[in-house]
Amino acid sequence: MTEPADAAVDAAEEAVRREELAANLAEVRERIAAAERAAGRPAGDVTLIVVTKTWPASDVRLLAGLGVGDVGENRDQEALPKHEACADLGLRWHFIGQLQRNKARHVAAYADVVQSVDRPELVAALDRAAAGAGRTLDVLLQIGLAAVPDGAPPAHRGGADPADVASLADLVEAAESLRLAGVMAVAPLGPDGSPADPRASFARLADVAAGLRADHPRATMVSAGMSGDLEEAVAAGATHVRVGTAVLGGRPRLR
Ligand SMILES: *Cc1c(COP(=O)(O)O)cnc(C)c1O
Repeated sequence: MTEPADAAVDAAEEAVRREELAANLAEVRERIAAAERAAGRPAGDVTLIVVTKTWPASDVRLLAGLGVGDVGENRDQEALPKHEACADLGLRWHFIGQLQRNKARHVAAYADVVQSVDRPELVAALDRAAAGAGRTLDVLLQIGLAAVPDGAPPAHRGGADPADVASLADLVEAAESLRLAGVMAVAPLGPDGSPADPRASFARLADVAAGLRADHPRATMVSAGMSGDLEEAVAAGATHVRVGTAVLGGRPRLR
């Protein structure tokens, strides 16, 4: 008869985790609020997306209970079962990872927003997949902000060349089951692995976003800023920040 004791341990562990997430969330929300004030933006202007990759569905459930409405996932094989376990929570699911064409069908089944569209073949694959699922997906164009020296391979963090954004945007607009919602970027890393210059990167992103809005006025989302650089992103006009570590803690090592 160990079951009641196990249940008590589980409940106690859950309570501890809830406390931890609540405290971290409060801190991140205060950072966002301070950044909004510093930028002269209205309170609540910026939406927090909590990046739950590598963390269990039980954490997603606790976060929903703490008022989180948007979650981000970057690995398809992990996101699909997690979404199934949390389908009752009414969350908005953002896919933020590198996307392979052959995974489009999975992603279209659960994602509400796909933030990592950076090439034409993905647009076609996602459109087909969304149509097949009877869904309409919001799409962000992921912008590559690293300065790539001539002849060098594309930056490892993904993203379309800003010069290709207009044509990619037209493709998304023309797709029946996709809605062009804006842009996303990850600030490039410097040689030592820390963000190179998030201010300059997010300023470039703001330029790209403004150019896109000139042609597509409804594409207003700017998804930028993570645990380490959300202040710089909010200062540069981000409408959505994607925060993992600062809410959930250091990520468990992937198997
Ligand atoms: C993991 C991830 C984040 C969150 O990063 P943290 O530093 O943990 O806040 C944001 N955006 C993308 C694209 C990610 O892959």
